[in-house]
Amino acid sequence: MAYTSINPYNGEELKSFPVASDTEIEQILTNAHEAFLTWKDQSFAERGAILQRAADLLRADPKKYANLLTLEMGKITREALAEVEISAAILEYYVKHAEALLADETLPFDPERGQAKIVHQPLGIILAIEPWNFPYYQVARIVAPQLAAGNTVILKHASNVPQCALAFETLMSDAGLLPGAFTNIFATREHIETILNDSRVHGVALTGSEGAGASIAAQAGKALKKSTLELGGSDALVVLADAVLKDAAKHAVAGRHSNAGQVCVASKRMIVVDEVYDEFLALYTEGVAQLKAGNPFDEETTLAPLSSQGAADEVRDKIKKAVEHGAVTTEVGPSVPTQGAFVQPTILTHVTPDNPAYYWEFFGPVSMIFRAKDEQDAIDIANDSPFGLGGSVFTQDKEHGAEVAKKISSGMVFVNQPTFSDANLPFGGVKRSGYGRELVGLGIKEFINHKLIYVAADTAK
Ligand code: NAP
Repeated sequence: MAYTSINPYNGEELKSFPVASDTEIEQILTNAHEAFLTWKDQSFAERGAILQRAADLLRADPKKYANLLTLEMGKITREALAEVEISAAILEYYVKHAEALLADETLPFDPERGQAKIVHQPLGIILAIEPWNFPYYQVARIVAPQLAAGNTVILKHASNVPQCALAFETLMSDAGLLPGAFTNIFATREHIETILNDSRVHGVALTGSEGAGASIAAQAGKALKKSTLELGGSDALVVLADAVLKDAAKHAVAGRHSNAGQVCVASKRMIVVDEVYDEFLALYTEGVAQLKAGNPFDEETTLAPLSSQGAADEVRDKIKKAVEHGAVTTEVGPSVPTQGAFVQPTILTHVTPDNPAYYWEFFGPVSMIFRAKDEQDAIDIANDSPFGLGGSVFTQDKEHGAEVAKKISSGMVFVNQPTFSDANLPFGGVKRSGYGRELVGLGIKEFINHKLIYVAADTAK
């Protein structure tokens, strides 16, 4: 197993890194534990100062960080810059809010008997296993809250973005972080098992596929460690009869195709009520046709290559299987370049519940479009999915949209907006999209000892 950067736009191998030795892994664990013993006792202000410096460094030279995203996984420059900014915003969120979020809580309790409070204390080392699709943002989602809370973090990043992993490690070190408090490892699967079984490690946060989630959750369970899982999704984008169709279609095109469609919360299933289906489909197809595939460094490019040739082959294979089971496929827009890991934007219709593709996540520019009889049918189709991550509802009646949102079984639902992420909003899902939440107060409280301290009243009285 190797950690190798390959530019998905031209197939060039950029750099390769050897995996760590067993001795190095043991040393990293020792360093992370020793760092924890100091870090946990630092004040919120001291920890926050480091996170703020990291945010400032990202903002001081966003192009430097963004370029690496484009080189290693093909993200277009505009999106890469946005990723650098949201990573800085997440770091800054916990600079501002960690102390208040983890303040002691006095519990309502009979003062005749005693006083009870909850104090929120860090646990120790947390392992983060992260995917390649947002190489900095995914790391920031764990590193910022966990470091702010007083935990230390070991990162196992995806094997195709080793340079981004190292860039984040260097960023935190340049920000003045205590050595050992955040370390990237080029680990094997066996190392991960060793780490999860080490008594100094107290939990694991994984973002990735269902397969990886199931495997890590099982290992963590066996070791009696807490896990949080942020897994795949197949978000519904429900279009009701009174929606402004032009806006809905425009949002849907962006919601499905940003990051070349490789987003866990991309709008992967458009569910449109019968009376506006044809018009929406025409507008959506027109919008997709305007995407411009090309060099992700070019400003005019709006559709990036996928992260690797393997990923592109997998998406094409899934389209083929969907068609074998009865789906109708329409390739949209000018042909994508033959060089690079591009996939032609594709619309799939007539995908029925007996087609296995009905339940799949397509991680690329593939849109499944469903005709719903009416609003209730649209909700039923939205909920007929193994996943439950994000979702959206388009309607001019915002209040009604929020009511429909309540009926969709997922972790986040947006009205008149595709699912998006923001440093000020929580993130996470239900069903096979995982469990636990990242960001804001929910995220910082996932790997904390919520300790009860009870002081008995003076019994002499
Ligand atoms: P993946 O193969 O599961 O990889 C994710 C991470 O898990 C990588 O670091 C990978 O390392 C590691 N990994 C995989 N199997 C492992 C195992 N058995 N033991 C230890 N580590 C293991 O995911 P992907 O296909 O690259 O990423 C796309 C998936 O992530 C999609 O399903 C997407 O929806 C999901 N995702 C979810 C969210 C969310 O917040 N819910 C966000 C982004 C992406 P290697 O690279 O070394 O295999």
